[in-house]
Amino acid sequence: MSTYTSKKFELAGSKPHYPPAKPFAVKHLKLEIKPDFDEKRIECRETLDISVIEDNLQYIVLDAAELNISSVQIDGKDLQFKALEDKLRIELPTPASENEQVRISINYDAKPRRGFFFVKPDKDYPNRQLQAWTQGEATESKYWFPCFDHPDMKFTSELIIEVPNDFVAISNGKLVDVTKKKTAKYHWIEEHPHPAYLTSLAIGRFAEIKENYDSIDLLYYVPEEMVDKASLSFSNTVNMMKFFEEYVRVKYPFDKYSQVAVDDFVYGGMENVSATTLTMDTLHDKKAHLDFTSEHLVSHELAHQWFGDLVTCRDWQHIWLNESFATYFEALYWQNSRGEDEFNYYVMQLAEEYFDEVSKRYKRAIVTNVYKHPDDLFDRHTYEKGACILHMLRNIVGDNIFRRAVKLYVERFSNKNAETDDFRRCVEEVSGLSLQQFFDQWLRKPGHPELKIEFGFDHTSKIATIRLSQTQNTDDGTPIYQFPLDIHITTGTGKKQFKFNIDSKEHTIQIPLDSEPLWFSVDPANKLLKRMDVKAPKQMLIEQLKNGNTVESLYAAKALSNFSSDDVVDLLKTVMMSDTFWGISAECARALSNMKTDNSYKVIVDALRISHPKARRAVVKALGEFKKKESVSVLQPLFEGDESYFVQAESALSLGKSTAREAFPLLLKALRMRSFNEVIAANALSGFGELKDDTGAHVLIEHSKLGEHRKIREAATLALGKFAKDNDKMIEHLKQLLKDPWFRVRINAIKAFVEAQEPKGIPEIEWVANNDIDPRVRRVAEESVLAIREAMQTPKEVAQMREEVEKLKTMNLELVQKVDKLEQELKG
Ligand SMILES: [Zn+2]
Repeated sequence: MSTYTSKKFELAGSKPHYPPAKPFAVKHLKLEIKPDFDEKRIECRETLDISVIEDNLQYIVLDAAELNISSVQIDGKDLQFKALEDKLRIELPTPASENEQVRISINYDAKPRRGFFFVKPDKDYPNRQLQAWTQGEATESKYWFPCFDHPDMKFTSELIIEVPNDFVAISNGKLVDVTKKKTAKYHWIEEHPHPAYLTSLAIGRFAEIKENYDSIDLLYYVPEEMVDKASLSFSNTVNMMKFFEEYVRVKYPFDKYSQVAVDDFVYGGMENVSATTLTMDTLHDKKAHLDFTSEHLVSHELAHQWFGDLVTCRDWQHIWLNESFATYFEALYWQNSRGEDEFNYYVMQLAEEYFDEVSKRYKRAIVTNVYKHPDDLFDRHTYEKGACILHMLRNIVGDNIFRRAVKLYVERFSNKNAETDDFRRCVEEVSGLSLQQFFDQWLRKPGHPELKIEFGFDHTSKIATIRLSQTQNTDDGTPIYQFPLDIHITTGTGKKQFKFNIDSKEHTIQIPLDSEPLWFSVDPANKLLKRMDVKAPKQMLIEQLKNGNTVESLYAAKALSNFSSDDVVDLLKTVMMSDTFWGISAECARALSNMKTDNSYKVIVDALRISHPKARRAVVKALGEFKKKESVSVLQPLFEGDESYFVQAESALSLGKSTAREAFPLLLKALRMRSFNEVIAANALSGFGELKDDTGAHVLIEHSKLGEHRKIREAATLALGKFAKDNDKMIEHLKQLLKDPWFRVRINAIKAFVEAQEPKGIPEIEWVANNDIDPRVRRVAEESVLAIREAMQTPKEVAQMREEVEKLKTMNLELVQKVDKLEQELKG
């Protein structure tokens, strides 16, 4: 069960990052901006009100990348300036003294490659929306306005945007003026201080839908032809706001809350102050609404308004203070609106996401300043693992104290920045506990407990013995954990609850009982983040599945997949078909598919009509895992006519996994079926990958080309990995896709090379690792080169030497850059 990976988070060239010095503070930003859609160009005049901190300040350095700066002025007088790489150095006319106020104006234009995005129709996508939108996080605002591009500087802002008359421009804060003459001018003012990365602008032909909550305007902007879909995504915003206000006991802090859905967005959502941007992919129709919801995304971004926007992490190393909180509060809203079962299952799935990253990529300390680019930190550790840690903390201190601590934290750091220890102190103050050990082991060290648990009972002494070992590998700094652990034991006289403090690698617990135990369970409420291997007799697991709470039943279903006897299959069947919570049905289906027996196959086939669409999807997936040709006939009706897009899509994939020839025409048919985000066609393409039929390879190539829907291209590109090994034509095609305009196609082209374990793409992937404009793509490329090399089983010494050379290369590059900078500064 140990999924130790040797891969490291710190890629060659990673180094410690510290918050930058602040010789001055930006107090207010005024940005007059005119986008030119034809040229994909912006023309801007920026005015910065700056308060000097360092006495005798002679120049000001701002972040500014790829901006064409024409003039810098104070009071209309031109100043000397120099643009070096991604910095702008402005010479002050006379040295400024401490607390002096300086107003600087900067005129510039740019054709931004990052930060500010134009979306336009073109020959491949003639029907695309005409839009422009920004994305600042992590450090991309400098591509559209000169700024101090770091979280630890907050300023008020106003944007004046000139757009064509039929366009709407949405930004942070209050709309104070709109004038419409030949063009329209929107004037927005944000009176709450915020960092550069939360500055936002979205422009398009949007319809506005307006609601009101407690005198706060809630505004939803969607493309005009999608108005009918807006309410399915946004109608619960009011309830979420109410819930967060009540839970945190701090009012929604900003003047309005807008959500705008834009095309080709590069994230799911971005929590800009009072003006969230969301991917248009979240808008969905009634059929998708059956088993898809925008609520996770919408509640996550809304929670950020408190966690991230009102209180902002002081440095990227503390980014979990933004993302883990938003993720956990998304789960808390889910608990509030959908109940305990959904909540527990959701938290368990968060942990699974993190475990998946550990087994496929790396484990790392959540709070770390050693990385290459701050974007590296936006991973499953920062979101999901951090959320699980907040869940543990809430369980340790109790909900009441957790809420009081969070309130104190939000109030104390409102409109300011916070570090991890600031939050720790708030919880300590309110709870009276000492929490440094908790924070150290969970946040400043990698890993999690891997528990091996053995249960025994002595009939003579009536003593139950539980042997618990922490089996995690500690070579990389993963600790032996200290944690409280709940255990339930049920005997003929009822359920008994125990709590133990575990603080060593090996721990033996002895519990005197009145009679023989019927079953027992460890961590029955899933409070602890851990992986667990419980050695229990079959009969005990059966009792646990029958009598346990949701968490206990889910654990039992998983553990029972190790037993494939008829009684277990029958019980899993009964529970799967009768349970009221779909998550348990889904886990039973998964357990049955893990058994891979004829009997379990038969049960799965019989379960295809299970009523909850999410359970049905799990059953269809389970059926696919059997990879049986005879599955085609039972899958076909679901694929063609199920009420859920996702069941249809899962059926398409399972059809591919059947590897039956009859699946081929059905998958072709799937490509013509239109669905929410093209889930059916995309899964059909993955299905062609599973079929491994050469004709299917041609279909994939055709569907990976420009002109197809993004989601279709992404799936086709990834599936090409199944065919690319030693296939020169395919390799050439994938190399082209490494330069694709859409970043997810580039990522999937890289992944296809990894899937194929095809080293012929390495030089091109290395080029991507060094040159791609998107830091996320660079990261995937770098990890993938290592993965392909590892797969090729390159002798260790060679791999090590390569790493050394890479390190030297990076060091050399840094040296050259430093010398360049010194030269420039000497000249300047
Ligand atoms: Zn977030």
